[in-house]
Amino acid sequence: MAMKTVIILGAGFGGLTVATDLSTTVREGVRIVLVDRKRKFYECALNLAVMTGELVDTSLAEGDISSLAGRGIEFISEEITGIDTSAMTVTTESHSIRGDFIVVALGASYVPEQIPGFAENAYNLYDGQEVKELAAALNNFAGGRIAVLVSRTPFKCPAAPYEAAFLIESLLRKKGIREKCTVDMYTPEWAPMPVAGDAVGSEIVGMLRDHNIGYFPDHMVLKVERGRMEFETDEAEFDLLVGVPPHESPSVVSKAGLTDATGWIPVDGRTLQTRFPGIYALGDITSIRLHNGMSLPMAGVFAMNEGLAVASSIASSLSGSGTISGFEGDGFCFIEVGDGMAAYGSGNFYARPRPSIELASPSAEFKKQKDQFAAMILESLRKE
Ligand SMILES: Cc1cc2nc3c(=O)[nH]c(=O)nc-3n(C[C@H](O)[C@H](O)[C@H](O)COP(=O)(O)OP(=O)(O)OC[C@H]3O[C@@H](n4cnc5c(N)ncnc54)[C@H](O)[C@@H]3O)c2cc1C
Repeated sequence: MAMKTVIILGAGFGGLTVATDLSTTVREGVRIVLVDRKRKFYECALNLAVMTGELVDTSLAEGDISSLAGRGIEFISEEITGIDTSAMTVTTESHSIRGDFIVVALGASYVPEQIPGFAENAYNLYDGQEVKELAAALNNFAGGRIAVLVSRTPFKCPAAPYEAAFLIESLLRKKGIREKCTVDMYTPEWAPMPVAGDAVGSEIVGMLRDHNIGYFPDHMVLKVERGRMEFETDEAEFDLLVGVPPHESPSVVSKAGLTDATGWIPVDGRTLQTRFPGIYALGDITSIRLHNGMSLPMAGVFAMNEGLAVASSIASSLSGSGTISGFEGDGFCFIEVGDGMAAYGSGNFYARPRPSIELASPSAEFKKQKDQFAAMILESLRKE
């Protein structure tokens, strides 16, 4: 069999899953090339543990991508500068590679500069460095107004800012300064995690109320100043601001003509194929429309499950078997609520006429499972 080349762009949750799964299922006749500007995978879900001080040594949240060479995966650590969809060629700073298959798993980029004053006045919850500064600021916090702000939708991990609010509230109680503080959450969404449906949203609103966290939905921020946020219809003051920045797709994919009017890459929800033969896209960079008209949320668990579907599809093309295990829309997430507890949401996002999601009440067992899930992801990278 002639050697075929699979180029995987992005070594995050999705790209790593495709690379490692293909390397175990297809042992001959394939060259697997993985490209990412970063040399190390960073498990960003652990930002919450960094914020609370539960995780201090952040090297424990990292994995060395080049260790995959032992599994026959070539790793190029360079900026991807071009994708030619007709020549099936990818260019980086010093390479030009032709692929038989191209898998685009470049995730979502942060653009805090879209909101005037955001970068100067908010701690970016999604940035590995800023979250360390946030941990120090929370440690020194003696009382006042803390606000958690979602600036725009869509954003990665719809639960993460809610978890941040719960964890901060719990931290303030542990510090014995809860009565001297307010914790408020502002978001342009009309409800928490709206894609999961009204029942899940109401349960989370109830949990916020139980923790005395102020909830301000339908709040689209226009600008942030020192100690003050301006929204479309009103304003609010804060002493410490924790923010989720606007997201957009990396410019290399729009330049390649892969995105649509949403700014993200449209794909077949089951096979993850783009409209270009041989080119797949998965994870945060895609737009998958659900039966309720909303989009599949950006989450690592989807990127990984989609990665398995893409690997299966490529393996099937290589072997000519014709059988693939497509992505069926299943997903789950843990929602930390502080005090060592987490709730658990799970279900099927492709269900008709709307996603079918259930939320199980917080327990210490779910928090343990969340930690085990994070450890399992890093472990899979360290495995020879
Ligand atoms: C604080 C936080 C908590 C989260 N918690 C959870 C959780 O509990 N559960 C869950 O399921 N999800 C969670 N997520 C979401 C999850 O991390 C993302 O959905 C997931 O990383 C998406 O995977 P991906 O492969 O699509 O993209 P990514 O993992 O973002 O990978 C994209 C890769 O592409 C590379 N790249 C981009 N452009 C270029 C370029 N031009 N050249 C070279 N390389 C490039 C990047 O360096 C990156 O490594 C969380 C996210 C955050 C920020």
